[in-house]
Amino acid sequence: GTVSRSEATKSSVSAQVLERAKKSLAGGDSSTMRVLPYHIPLVADRAEGCRLWDVDGNEYIDLNMSYGPLLLGHRPKAVIEAVTRQISEQGSQLGFPTEVTMRVAEKIKKLFPSIELLRFANSGTEACASAVRLAKTYTGRNKLIMFEGHYHGWSEAVFTKYHAPLEELPECGYGQAIPGTSGMGDSIKDVITVQWNDLDALERALAEHGPDVCAVMMEPISGNAGLLMPRDGYLATVREMAHDAGALLIFDEVITGMRVSAGGAQEHYLVSPDITVMSKAMGGGYPVSAFGASAEMMQCIVKGPLFHGGVFSGNAIVMSAAEAVLDTVLADREGIYGHLHSVADQLANGIKDIYSRLNIPAQVNHLGPLLAAMITKEEVDGLYNYRDVRRHADFERYIQFQHWMQQHGVYFHPNEFEPMFLSTAHSSQDIDEVLERWEEGARQCLV
Ligand code: PLP
Repeated sequence: GTVSRSEATKSSVSAQVLERAKKSLAGGDSSTMRVLPYHIPLVADRAEGCRLWDVDGNEYIDLNMSYGPLLLGHRPKAVIEAVTRQISEQGSQLGFPTEVTMRVAEKIKKLFPSIELLRFANSGTEACASAVRLAKTYTGRNKLIMFEGHYHGWSEAVFTKYHAPLEELPECGYGQAIPGTSGMGDSIKDVITVQWNDLDALERALAEHGPDVCAVMMEPISGNAGLLMPRDGYLATVREMAHDAGALLIFDEVITGMRVSAGGAQEHYLVSPDITVMSKAMGGGYPVSAFGASAEMMQCIVKGPLFHGGVFSGNAIVMSAAEAVLDTVLADREGIYGHLHSVADQLANGIKDIYSRLNIPAQVNHLGPLLAAMITKEEVDGLYNYRDVRRHADFERYIQFQHWMQQHGVYFHPNEFEPMFLSTAHSSQDIDEVLERWEEGARQCLV
């Protein structure tokens, strides 16, 4: 077909850089998710607000926003100012307790009442690993229940093969977790994965393993598998079932924290976990995570025997960035989340409208500034768990469509499981522009 708006972008400089990078960086970059075989090469040069430019000079409206951290957009002024002040006047890494770390902790507690004491770390992976150790220490139990399609980082404790082929998943809805990588040793033997949104499967898993289970750990919205919302009452029931078994409930709010609502999914759904993990949005683009729980539980760290450390945990640059994000959010919660929800509604409704007018089978899931616009192989009534998505989503056509969109100035991740992230920097006009291209891309690739 013809390309009416503009010529497709070129990616020759990006391709050259990646070829050269492959000689020094394994696979060309430091995260496999950024250099998948079906990615069109895109080496980023700079970004501002909701726009990003690559080394070939192409401009994109960014709907990936670095997988979630950029709640306030690329290079938000408040964060730049706070970080600049910290670096130039106080120091980037002081190696002692600092006031800014204390203030950030206090501000997080304002947003997350379930947290009485917390610790900072550098990545979601680290904080999830510590959260699991905390649950194991506090309960004296060793088994962990998780959910199919849920991702809690790549540590030994939790890295299951979360996008496993259907035939590898147990028919009964739960079973021994499959390791997510080579080299994990036996740690994953203590993990049981259960089908998401399936209370019967969880009940059977708890009946079999209950007395050994330290915690039921979940993404309260299944954000790494097509953004699958919990069914009505599901989270509260899981919490009750976990507690009845003497196990804790861990919410991994790395994606949802300060995103679906200032106080995360626990605020949105009014269900409190025992342990919370957060990261991404709280840092505004700087590498930070946190895990927290009741003061009593956190005595495992205060008094021992649980160790937690990290040279860069609570790093001053990162803390000053997080404080700027928190201050921005605390100063105008309604304004910020009102805007995020409104641009996301506009995008989701616009996409639904395009797909329905063009008769494209699809499933658009969204809550707040999180959105998954999945293309399916046929019309489906609803996708409730990882297996549904794996079975019905059309991964191949989604990649073709993503390629077209990337070549026409709109970027989102080519893996259909990955959600899109909006920010306060996305305006209604930006969304109009996205939708205009979306319609053309859909006509070119999906009809
Ligand atoms: N938990 C969730 C829900 C995530 O989406 C991710 C990363 O995408 C992680 C944990 C791991 O975080 P990190 O990549 O910072 O280690």
